[in-house]
Amino acid sequence: MIKDLIVVGAGACGLMGAIVAARDKKRVLILEKMPKVGVKLKATGGGRCNLTNSLDADSFMQSFGKSGRFMSSALEFLSSKGLREFFAKIGVETDMPDGFRIFPVGHNSQTVLDALNSEIRRLDIEVKCSCEVSKISKESDQFIVSSKNQEYIAKNILLATGGMGYPKLGSTGDGYRLAKMVGHTIKEPHPAMMPLKTKENWVANCRADTIANVTIEVDIKKYKKLKATGDLIFTKDGIRGPVVLDFSREITPLLAKYKEVPIVVKLTNFLHYDELYRDFKNKLSSGEFRTLLELVKSVLPQSVAVELILLSGGRLDVPFSKQSGIIRDSLIKNIVQTPLTIVGDNGFDMAMITRGGINLKEVDSKSMQSRVVKNLYFCGELLDLDGPCGGYNLQWAFSSGALAGKLHP
Ligand SMILES: Cc1cc2nc3c(=O)[nH]c(=O)nc-3n(C[C@H](O)[C@H](O)[C@H](O)COP(=O)(O)OP(=O)(O)OC[C@H]3O[C@@H](n4cnc5c(N)ncnc54)[C@H](O)[C@@H]3O)c2cc1C
Repeated sequence: MIKDLIVVGAGACGLMGAIVAARDKKRVLILEKMPKVGVKLKATGGGRCNLTNSLDADSFMQSFGKSGRFMSSALEFLSSKGLREFFAKIGVETDMPDGFRIFPVGHNSQTVLDALNSEIRRLDIEVKCSCEVSKISKESDQFIVSSKNQEYIAKNILLATGGMGYPKLGSTGDGYRLAKMVGHTIKEPHPAMMPLKTKENWVANCRADTIANVTIEVDIKKYKKLKATGDLIFTKDGIRGPVVLDFSREITPLLAKYKEVPIVVKLTNFLHYDELYRDFKNKLSSGEFRTLLELVKSVLPQSVAVELILLSGGRLDVPFSKQSGIIRDSLIKNIVQTPLTIVGDNGFDMAMITRGGINLKEVDSKSMQSRVVKNLYFCGELLDLDGPCGGYNLQWAFSSGALAGKLHP
């Protein structure tokens, strides 16, 4: 039977697109290569599923950078409020424990998946799992969608195959190959949102130490504006934590270009050089901090204090005042702007999202329809748009899927 719509990929955006189309009385078939639908959705937010956040549309789009405005029609069609209402209607109430991030009540992604699955059953949407689409083509007004064993025919296709991050959860870049087959171009995909590796191996001695409210900046003149703030954790070979997840999407394209990316980490975010110097002087006058280590420990965890003192050439058990001027100067600089060099990432295996994807110029943002092939639609992470941590990427997936599912003529 010829379907009105075949959705390739049953992630957040594909499921939403299928539901919207079926509510408009379209005959919909979903083809999913994993044995179950929504495998990545289930893993989101560490199983808690950070669905969206409380930002207004303008601030939301700004967080996606230069291309953020592309989302305006999709967000107008399904806003954060609209998404919460959509889920409430299918039985999932949401809450906002920190006044910003929005989760399903109970913070269990399975509730989201169960509700989407019931809605799919209620709307009689056909779903074929373990069905990997390997080819799409168009003959006159119909699309032929091929898997290993079968061909399916539809009037419209929604490509919802995601990016390349966390391939074990299903998305391995198939959508790029399928889109190329029908004439689309792809902005080079880079892994994003993941831990980063540093050249400096002293970080291993600080492993598991968390430092709150750190700012990281790229230390290349042309890219000085690239920065992020949040909690940082040292690892055996680099850095991770919320600030690194957000920052890594800026770093991976630079890594591909330069191989090494110098950064500075502001571990005492609110203290500048002069302020820290004054703070140390005040503390020393109290007579409380006899050794250099005791003094530096007043602003940093012990292991980090030790490493930065050694890096600056200082002696741990000697008072600050007895270190040379050069060492004192170097130490204060290393504390307020710790230099690190990013030399690698963990590739797509641990990338929570993909930077790059289907060229936005080839897609009509008002409908999510291809400008190259009529009746072909795109949504979600497959497109060249990515946001930071905090419910941004799922909201984009749901909004773009919903708009695409309207199947504008
Ligand atoms: C561990 C983890 C946690 C995350 N947590 C959050 C969070 O809390 N909040 C947030 O906003 N974002 C989060 N993200 C990002 C978010 O999950 C993604 O941006 C979002 O799921 C993308 O949705 P999508 O529908 O575009 O793609 P996907 O969810 O990747 O879905 C694509 C689907 O297409 C299928 N597919 C691929 N190729 C084929 C093919 N050839 N044939 C048939 N099917 C195919 C895949 O198996 C997959 O099911 C997280 C990501 C990860 C990896």
